[in-house]
Amino acid sequence: MNSVVNLTALFVHNMNQANIIPYSKQSISEADIEAVVSVLRSDFLTQGPVVPAFEQAVANYCHAWHGIAVSNGTAALHIACMSLGLGPGDWLWTSPITFVASANCGLFCGAKVDFVDIDPHTFNISALALEKKLIEAKLQGKLPKVVVPVHMCGQPCDMAAVHALSIKYGFKIIEDASHAIGAKYLGEPIGNGRYSDITVFSFHPVKIITTGEGGMAVTNSDVLAQKMKLLRSHGISSAPAEMETRPSDEIWNYQQIDLGFNYRMTEIQAALGLSQLKRLDEFVDIRKNIAMFYDQAFSLVDIKIPWQHPDTQSSFHLYPIQVTMTSSISQQSLYQTLTQAGLKVNLHYIPVYRQPYYARLGFKKGYCPNAEKYFKKSISIPIYASMNTEQQQHVVDLIQSFCHSKVVKQTVGARL
Ligand SMILES: *Cc1c(COP(=O)(O)O)cnc(C)c1O
Repeated sequence: MNSVVNLTALFVHNMNQANIIPYSKQSISEADIEAVVSVLRSDFLTQGPVVPAFEQAVANYCHAWHGIAVSNGTAALHIACMSLGLGPGDWLWTSPITFVASANCGLFCGAKVDFVDIDPHTFNISALALEKKLIEAKLQGKLPKVVVPVHMCGQPCDMAAVHALSIKYGFKIIEDASHAIGAKYLGEPIGNGRYSDITVFSFHPVKIITTGEGGMAVTNSDVLAQKMKLLRSHGISSAPAEMETRPSDEIWNYQQIDLGFNYRMTEIQAALGLSQLKRLDEFVDIRKNIAMFYDQAFSLVDIKIPWQHPDTQSSFHLYPIQVTMTSSISQQSLYQTLTQAGLKVNLHYIPVYRQPYYARLGFKKGYCPNAEKYFKKSISIPIYASMNTEQQQHVVDLIQSFCHSKVVKQTVGARL
């Protein structure tokens, strides 16, 4: 036993030694550790009092009525779609510039999935492109049942426009706010449900706050909340009001009344989440300051910084820089240079329909031109709450010197 423990400790130690700067990672405090330890010493590791406390705290934070905590953000998207009745014959539309789960949740339900191109300034679903596609879909009788706007990088979508279209064309809205807990739209917190039916968060360690794995759906609808609670726990209820009448000489202390899953969050995860939530605003502030530092540092080089819409306050989950089409700086050489220097930079995202699985469903390269342009230009550089100033400066130095070396080469080349 001891040797196993020591090996684990050694492995963790070596991992920490490596001088690698990821694009994002968690920030864990002693208070977080204490919160988790106290659950480990308690009577419940799952289905105890901490999960409901975490749900209430998140709902309060984002001004929603109900929170349904689940095992991950993907599970939250799945039960959100199911609770809205998405099924075979229906369509779910989302942005191609997102993590695959925003689209997969439609396929889980047997529905068909389609993509609406992005706005090149915000990288979010374009309300104009959405309207155009809705007009065509209406003529063909193929209107979507659910649209999933994704608050890309933590910057909220144009929700007022999407909501107005939902009333005109009769679709439901699930906000994929996996990047955007702590963000604001028109001065109000994401998750308040003013412009949607359900909002979904992810608490994966790269996101704004973490529970290890974990997610939550928030809604203002009693009916949707009740359905999602049922679906996350096998479709089983023990609430007398939900159960069917059975002979009184039999013991029916629970009933399976729907086909659900085990998508529950543990008490251990919820304790971490509850503790992390206390620092959410601080995390967002730190991320914002790093973004401002980058904005300034890159204002003098040939790099495009992410634009912020004045209606929004981003949670700055990601900071994608873009190479400009005219410069000598290529996305691939920048990616290689940064990766070789130990930065675990990433690409958020490859357009979902370009993934082999989706290509097999018939989607073609070039389907969403703005998404493809973004894919060929952008690189997400490190931004996270536990990132120190030396690390931030290191990232800036690497990118600035890369850009300068390209400029010098280009000028020399021009003279020859
Ligand atoms: C992370 C993420 C998800 C999935 O969340 P998990 O908790 O990893 O299942 C869904 N959508 C987007 C946009 C994400 O970034």
